[in-house]
Amino acid sequence: MRTDILGVGFDDLTLEEAAAAGASLVEDQGFHYAVTPNPEFLLAARKDQPFRQALLDADLVLADGVGVVYSAKLLGRPLKGRVPGIEFAQALMGWMAKHGKRLFLLGAKPGVAELAAANLRDRYPGLILCGTHDGYFKEDEPVVQAIRESGADVVFVCLGALKQEFWMAKYGPATGAHLMVGLGGSLDVFAG
Ligand code: UDP
Repeated sequence: MRTDILGVGFDDLTLEEAAAAGASLVEDQGFHYAVTPNPEFLLAARKDQPFRQALLDADLVLADGVGVVYSAKLLGRPLKGRVPGIEFAQALMGWMAKHGKRLFLLGAKPGVAELAAANLRDRYPGLILCGTHDGYFKEDEPVVQAIRESGADVVFVCLGALKQEFWMAKYGPATGAHLMVGLGGSLDVFAG
């Protein structure tokens, strides 16, 4: 059962529970994706039905901001707390490092994902950074193929809101990855 906040169902999970749910999606057969909507996402979803559907179809819907948690409280359907995308990503990488999982970084300006990969390699010994691609590509198929060839278990998709959710829903299944996470500007943070 999800908690409905302005037409989008959220999973009511703590950070630890969300990370555990993410880990089991990685171990699961098939393709899954996670979204981390903030209040701007919810406004966009009210006007854009395909975007709303891309959020509803996600396997994990995490409340990224205090705005969502606050709205939930006002609506009388309180959530356990916020699960910022970046903290979810960090918790998931901690688990991936212990289990030798493969991570592909997609998005941001050319060079940023490589920098982020180098930092994350240092920060999470055991985590396999298996590939990167910038977020300003014109054709989708070569990117799908790069991910497929990398053997990624997980892909952080950082193309900005809407674009990343549509991309995961449409192209994710063909990549062979088990989990994609839409993470907005996170690669810029990991690169810094
Ligand atoms: N981005 C990208 N491709 C695009 C548009 C944006 O890779 O076509 C990247 C951008 O470089 C940044 C990230 O997506 O690293 C988040 O962008 P922004 O802050 O504009 O999006 P938000 O997540 O705040 O909606």
